[in-house]
Amino acid sequence: MPKEDVSRVPESVYLNEYFDFDPKANKTQDKVFGCKAILTNEEFWDALQDGLYDTLNEGWSVILFQMGLKYGTSVGGKARESIQDVQQAVKFLESYGLMAGWGRFKAAPFTLAAGKLAGDLRVTVEDNFFAKTGKKKKWETPRCFFIAGLLAGIAEGLLGEGHACIETRCMASGAHACEFLVTRRNR
Ligand SMILES: [Zn+2]
Repeated sequence: MPKEDVSRVPESVYLNEYFDFDPKANKTQDKVFGCKAILTNEEFWDALQDGLYDTLNEGWSVILFQMGLKYGTSVGGKARESIQDVQQAVKFLESYGLMAGWGRFKAAPFTLAAGKLAGDLRVTVEDNFFAKTGKKKKWETPRCFFIAGLLAGIAEGLLGEGHACIETRCMASGAHACEFLVTRRNR
């Protein structure tokens, strides 16, 4: 039996560096963005993706990309507001993504010229939560349209300009990690 007084309700329950559970408010909190959070799992994402695919077939890719783009733009913009240095903001987002269970994001070294990407930006994602799931166990082509949109959006939010992103290798089609290429749309 626990020795502590179990009737005592703690102020908050530490989940990890970025997330707490508040037992009084019955809410899981995202400490970075100051909003409610949910814990979810592969079952959830599988069901969403399968539902989308069953309805739209390959048309799902557009929806997933746009979902990621919208969210990424918001996240990138907020990161830029609180962390002025783009390199530091990227490092922070890598850490946040890892703690949120999305996977280990790693941006290859990049340089900026007058605040814009000087070349293409390669991002690898090991243990990508969004790639390992799905009804079909192995795909012929990359599948992580949501993350491709997310990265294009983050680039947009951080650098304030239109960016494109394609996935060049994918865990869902047998690669050991997913790999994305972020490029500027108008150069
Ligand atoms: Zn992938």
